[in-house]
Amino acid sequence: MDLVPAPSGETPVKVPVVEVEAVDVAEPVNAESVALEEASSVYETDSDDSDGWDAMSGDDTIQMLRDEQLRDGLVPGACTLEEAVTFRNRLHAIGKAAFVEETIVRETVTAKKLCTAFGIVPPAFLEGAPDESFHPLLAIAISREFSRRRKLPDYNTIDDAVRLLRESKNIIVLTGAGISTSLGIPDFRSKDTGLYSKLEHLGLSDPQEVFDIHVFREDPSIFFSIAKDILPTEKKYSPTHGFIKLLQDKGKLLTNYTQNIDNIEANAGVLPENIVQCHGSFASATCVKCEHKVSGDAIFGEIKAGNVPECSACRQIIEADALKPQGLKRKRSSNGCQKDRKEFEDSSDEEDYEIPNPGVMKPDITFFGEDLPDEFGRRLIHHDRELVDLVIVIGTSLKVAPVAEVPGILPRDIPQIYISRTPVSHTGFDIDLLGDCDVVVSELCRRAGWDLKHHMIPVDEKVDVTPVEGYESRHVFQVVGA
Ligand SMILES: [Zn+2]
Repeated sequence: MDLVPAPSGETPVKVPVVEVEAVDVAEPVNAESVALEEASSVYETDSDDSDGWDAMSGDDTIQMLRDEQLRDGLVPGACTLEEAVTFRNRLHAIGKAAFVEETIVRETVTAKKLCTAFGIVPPAFLEGAPDESFHPLLAIAISREFSRRRKLPDYNTIDDAVRLLRESKNIIVLTGAGISTSLGIPDFRSKDTGLYSKLEHLGLSDPQEVFDIHVFREDPSIFFSIAKDILPTEKKYSPTHGFIKLLQDKGKLLTNYTQNIDNIEANAGVLPENIVQCHGSFASATCVKCEHKVSGDAIFGEIKAGNVPECSACRQIIEADALKPQGLKRKRSSNGCQKDRKEFEDSSDEEDYEIPNPGVMKPDITFFGEDLPDEFGRRLIHHDRELVDLVIVIGTSLKVAPVAEVPGILPRDIPQIYISRTPVSHTGFDIDLLGDCDVVVSELCRRAGWDLKHHMIPVDEKVDVTPVEGYESRHVFQVVGA
């Protein structure tokens, strides 16, 4: 929580020092430090909860307010939507310290009412309490609002989006499962898709266990029993993949950060150096015992057949081993082949010997419980952040780390466009283009005068674009006659 302790010169929102001075203490105490400590202890309670609301409220629940509720005046004593927007703009314009000075310190508004400007209903358990009681809550609300990316006011219309596409030279494209669903590839990490219902018969308590590295190590057959459903069957790709390739052809693609593991970007011709596969992919596989690496194609046949693919390097060693005289064979080993060559021993104690199994080839996708590829943070922070001039997020609700962090990590003046079926509220995009992402990108290309050819886009396709009422930067795309 960045409000506490307050940097020098800032006015922290905290229990007023006056109260501390009134406390009867035996020894002289630095009043200010006590006040800070008290305030700190309030904030520490939310250390393991990014929003902090639950911890702040104890048993009571703190209700969040939507802007629609402010607009409709449904909450007694709350700001109007206009007042709320003015307060938020003011906060971003002058910073936290000056904002608190101007409002709470000068008593131009109560903390209780100001909480509503930042989307918090004054909790019932504070009803009738002095206004200071709302300060800790307000401090969190202000910090949260201040760290949120602000929508840039200059980008709102489809024309703005098209102009950004045409003028930008270093575009980051963030993609998720939504760009592959038109190819029939299930959004396998989402809990409410067909794939997970298939897993019930495997007796898993949580379907995500299929992608848990510990479960994989225990019984890889569980993963491989469903992996064949995730693997793309042919070298096909969607119009949205084609759009990313088109950006590459035009020299505008800085990086495609994809959460998908289907490696379909490659089918579209997006070059490996332009892709960061944030969760790894099926493009390669590694032996869990000897770390022998192969290209993904080498084991696709086995995967398609529903088998557990085994390591050819391990097998060779085992076979070579079998031909050796008894005394030179290795002792039993739980952890593989090449690594413990040195453990060859000359005893003829046959009881120690067992026929070893080759290692399992694990596709290089990132399982739950495994580290994400280093490439992600390295490229984003040390390379792309300096160069990017447009961000386009497609087909992901941006709820899964680390990709969810990307819009916040990039400079705030870089425009961000969101393309998906449903809008997200937790981060402020500049332009929301809602609908089937294949339809949205094909219409954008049409308007940009770009030729996005794909057999899934009818040549005579007409797309209706309608604004969403109340949002000047939100537009719905729909194929005419669909
Ligand atoms: Zn191996």
